[in-house]
Amino acid sequence: MAPDWDDADRRLMGHAWVGSEIAIHVGRLCDDIGVRWAGSDRERLAAEYVADQFRAVELSGPEVEEFGLQTWESGRSSIMVVGGNGVSLDVRPCLFCPATAVSGPLEDVGWGMPHELDAIPADRLNGAIVLADSGFEPFSEPRTFHLRLRDLATAGVRAAITPAAVGGRRLSDFSASDWRDNPPCAVPLPVAQTSREDGAKLRRCLSEGTTVTLNVDATFLSGTSWNVVGDLTGSIWPQETLVLAAHHDTTTDSFGANDNGAGVAVLLETARLLALLTRETGVAPARTIRFASFGAEEQGLQGSAAFVSKHYGPDPKPRLMINLDELATGSMKGVVLQFPELRPFMQHQLDTMNEGLACHVLSQLDASGDMFPFSRAGIPSAILWRWRFEGRHPDTGFGHTAADTPDKLRIRPLKEYAGFLARLLLRLSFVPPEEWPENRLDVGEIEQRIEDERGTVFRTM
Ligand SMILES: [Zn+2]
Repeated sequence: MAPDWDDADRRLMGHAWVGSEIAIHVGRLCDDIGVRWAGSDRERLAAEYVADQFRAVELSGPEVEEFGLQTWESGRSSIMVVGGNGVSLDVRPCLFCPATAVSGPLEDVGWGMPHELDAIPADRLNGAIVLADSGFEPFSEPRTFHLRLRDLATAGVRAAITPAAVGGRRLSDFSASDWRDNPPCAVPLPVAQTSREDGAKLRRCLSEGTTVTLNVDATFLSGTSWNVVGDLTGSIWPQETLVLAAHHDTTTDSFGANDNGAGVAVLLETARLLALLTRETGVAPARTIRFASFGAEEQGLQGSAAFVSKHYGPDPKPRLMINLDELATGSMKGVVLQFPELRPFMQHQLDTMNEGLACHVLSQLDASGDMFPFSRAGIPSAILWRWRFEGRHPDTGFGHTAADTPDKLRIRPLKEYAGFLARLLLRLSFVPPEEWPENRLDVGEIEQRIEDERGTVFRTM
């Protein structure tokens, strides 16, 4: 039986607003548990916390699912300018940077674009350590930093130093990999970040014959990480599923408030709202809503990839997966699909909510989040439209640093996310199977598309 939509909407939005548990979840994950690098004890505590919350709202079968993790650890690293007074610079190796001990003449390659490399004599690149900006050269077709590093490696460059984009001596954990690759975390060239300040100083002091030394202490290890899954079982078509997911892990020293305490808190809150509706009115989603929290997103999407291969063979596939990540980057403006097929259908569903939400389609498969392994397996997937083009709060520019703390979050928009998602998922759950657009996604064609798009830049800003 279809719910009384007015009544359901009022209850879901009312409970999203009054009695919200979002701030509690954020405090527990970010303040009490803290840094949650996948494979660590604290990541496991975060997974157990999520499982406890799933149990508290009586999702069926909450499970903490262990999976094998290929992880990385770094110790002391340094960048030294040799000679003169031997200056030591701020340093942070990229994630999964190999252990490195190199020295060589320093060469400034700008952004490291092909035309810039062409202008430098080959013997000056061969054996050099380069200073390269990781941002995009604003004059030509954008090329990923990953590909530019590959070009540098091909030219015989031994390592790269890249200045942080933001000032204040802030260093962040950054990835020099392309997660479309296999393995996802392969780094083409040892690369370390220095602060914007030290990068500028290096550029100022650079003269012919400047030699630098880069040391990175790093270890690659096999470990264990954890996914969590719980179902709100469908009342009419329990075999059919919609997946709502977020990742609970963080980078190596981040408290992970925006990335991604925000997403996990909204995941838990959406589950609570829908469970509460069932308790109060007897209205339960018609198809199953599966809530999932992944480990190791920050380590090349290993958790979501393990989850997809464990749960989804060729059939049956979930009808849709929605990924929640970095939700404090603006209010919810709509849904962004990875494939165009569901667009008119989704827009119609959003229109019934009368909140001015829009459905868009990305023109490339975005591998920067946990929706990607689902897309790759032919499962329609989506992210939420929030900051693209406008409305990104400046406080959310602390990603992958120790400054991504709960004071950077705006809790009120997060309450709205949970209310809107609960309403949307309930609607989607009641669309009869025969009215749901058929899934014609072909895994072979998707792989070809990923190949064709390899190296393209994700439009995440
Ligand atoms: Zn994230």
